Amino acid sequence: MPDRLNDRTIVITGAASGIGAGFARGLAAEGAAVVVADLNLDAAQQVADGITAEGGRALAVRVDVTDRDQVRAGIDRAVAEFGRLDAYFNNAGVNKPEKFLDITKDAWDLIMNVNAFSVVIGTQEAAQQFLRQGGGGKIVNTASIAGRTGFPSFAPYSASKAAVISLTQAAARSLAADRITVNAFAPGVVATPLWTKLDKDLVDIGEGDSGFDSMAGGILLGRAADPEDLVGTAVFLASRDSDYITGQVIPIEGGMILV
Ligand code: NAD
Repeated sequence: MPDRLNDRTIVITGAASGIGAGFARGLAAEGAAVVVADLNLDAAQQVADGITAEGGRALAVRVDVTDRDQVRAGIDRAVAEFGRLDAYFNNAGVNKPEKFLDITKDAWDLIMNVNAFSVVIGTQEAAQQFLRQGGGGKIVNTASIAGRTGFPSFAPYSASKAAVISLTQAAARSLAADRITVNAFAPGVVATPLWTKLDKDLVDIGEGDSGFDSMAGGILLGRAADPEDLVGTAVFLASRDSDYITGQVIPIEGGMILV
């Protein structure tokens, strides 16, 4: 059995679905104890049960990433169950498309809160735990190609992911003295339930032509990603192999926007 993460405890937010669920399975398969943190506890429990059925170590916790008390409680549960925290994946995210001239404050607030301010909270609370353990530790943020180039049908989402990139750099500079690294990866188009809803919402606002199929059509490697395509990078960013890397954003987009 692979064991690159044997002695590691890793919290992954938004891990009940899509990319986060793929990470929970992939990191657990490398020996990590994983905490499947999500708003949707039932779905998180299913992911955790699947991992334990395969002989892995997993715990499901209900966490709203916009609520500091819940984030802190999730980390406390991880430490109570597995003894320490080694890496924290700020992965939960949402999208809600609107044409640029129709952008609403409600959508802006929701997206910036869930996608960007949650990264502030998650990084602060994980770092406090790392400091209680004497320093060291890894933060891994889910950015997006949308943080590198603005997409017209979902500008607040693009802005929130640009914020994730800036926060990755700022936190890396803030926390380096305590040997805490902060990195991000930027996926392109990944086949997950997020896209099922996004495609429907795009049709509802008359932007059906800019959905999954059209976005995936321009990818050099000829297909959209599955969450499994991202797991190798997640394992790398959670393992000692990446100890000398901080403040970086790794694109995983099959050759798409190339920036
Ligand atoms: P998904 O919808 O399959 O999963 C997102 C999960 O986040 C869900 O389980 C949901 O319950 C959870 N969540 C939502 N709000 C939450 C909150 N407030 N607190 C805790 N959990 C919450 O989506 P996905 O495609 O797996 O996306 C995961 C991350 O990857 C997101 O940050 C997304 O922006 C990013 N991303 C996705 C793609 C893609 O093409 N799918 C591309 C680039 C980046």
